[in-house]
Amino acid sequence: MSIAQERRLVTAIPGPGSLERLERKKALVADGVGTTLPVFVAEAGGGVLVDVDGNHLIDLGSGIAVTTVGNAAPGVVRRVQEQVAAFTHTCFMITPYDGYVDVCAALAELTPGVHAKKSALFNSGAEAVENAVKIARVATGRDAVAVFDHAYHGRTNLTMAMTAKNMPYKNGFGPFASEVYRAPMSYPLRDGLSGEEAAARAIDVLDKQVGAANLACVVIEPIQGEGGFVVPAPGFLPALAAWSQEHGIVFIADEIQSGFCRTGDWFACDHEGVVPDLVTTAKGIAGGLPLAGVTGRAELMDAVHVGGLGGTYGGNPIACAAALGAIEEMRTHDLVSRAREIEALMETRLGALRAEHDVIADVRGRGAMMAIELCRPGTTEPDPARIAAVAAYCHRHGVVTLTCGTWGNVFRFLPPLSIGDALLTEGFDVVAEAFAATR
Ligand SMILES: *Cc1c(COP(=O)(O)O)cnc(C)c1O
Repeated sequence: MSIAQERRLVTAIPGPGSLERLERKKALVADGVGTTLPVFVAEAGGGVLVDVDGNHLIDLGSGIAVTTVGNAAPGVVRRVQEQVAAFTHTCFMITPYDGYVDVCAALAELTPGVHAKKSALFNSGAEAVENAVKIARVATGRDAVAVFDHAYHGRTNLTMAMTAKNMPYKNGFGPFASEVYRAPMSYPLRDGLSGEEAAARAIDVLDKQVGAANLACVVIEPIQGEGGFVVPAPGFLPALAAWSQEHGIVFIADEIQSGFCRTGDWFACDHEGVVPDLVTTAKGIAGGLPLAGVTGRAELMDAVHVGGLGGTYGGNPIACAAALGAIEEMRTHDLVSRAREIEALMETRLGALRAEHDVIADVRGRGAMMAIELCRPGTTEPDPARIAAVAAYCHRHGVVTLTCGTWGNVFRFLPPLSIGDALLTEGFDVVAEAFAATR
């Protein structure tokens, strides 16, 4: 690793070089494209981002769970360099190439279940979700789509309809796609229900308000991402999957944020042995290059007529090379186990923090996908102001942290699995300081 794995601040955050570039950004980039931490990055690797002023920041966000194998991971760089020198694009639908099929083979092997599987590749998570719905509709001959409270599935028209939160994702962007219905999610901190009880509540809503026979698919994040890292109570996902199967509804797991070693297993569904009919993947799949997939039961995937799935760039050869490099890194470095080690470290640190600060109402998550939810002490009333103050402190002190949640009151931790224990520990030292300083 050529980048020193340490936090080192040589200017204020943001520094003069970043401030100058922020002016330029302000003039040239649409205001609608926001910024979480206003430093311009020059290079990154391991668990560190280096900005244009030479500051070394600790990365606890992985560019939103994307650089799971680390930034510019050696296996990704090598394969991308080879591919970009060989050819950059043919369009897989015009003249195919091996990389695309190799990624589909890896997806068939790694996603939950041992049934015959096929895949189709796309550019972004939202595109994968849209295509999963298209496949489910053709396969079932039905229209209705079930989604959940706090869900996030993307920013295209159909996926905005599927996403729960208005600001900033939907406000003013309607009208939205029809035939999307929302059911209550299992949210143990807020509903106190067992998984079975929460599933019965959701199923009752769908059955009475939509009708099982009208549903093409149930789409769910096995651990919710943007919605607040909500981990459903045990039994919720298996009960929903069983009900879907019983009624011929395609059960779609959106593993775009939770997939590819992130939760301490290849996929979050694996923790409860849930086998979805279709799985959507993106983010961590290709170490930072844009790639997404829909993988599922061969007979469902093949329900669509020839030419019905695709796109100009979907499964671009360079993105596929990056995915093969990322998957190789995950396997050779056993990143499933590394995510579990990171979970143990984060759980200890976050548990200690919770014991000290009664504003922390919940510690939850799996693997290297953990979060704390902040509420006014003794209540479940969200405290987004405190979290903004804590995050601002972390950013000023060189730790990249992300928030999420319907109420913006969840602090989420998504370190790259290439981060070392010392750096991770230092990152959480700063988080602890931030809580103490904003008391
Ligand atoms: C990020 C995300 C998406 C959308 O992916 P994009 O690549 O941003 O389109 C969809 N579903 C989940 C669960 C996500 O986390």
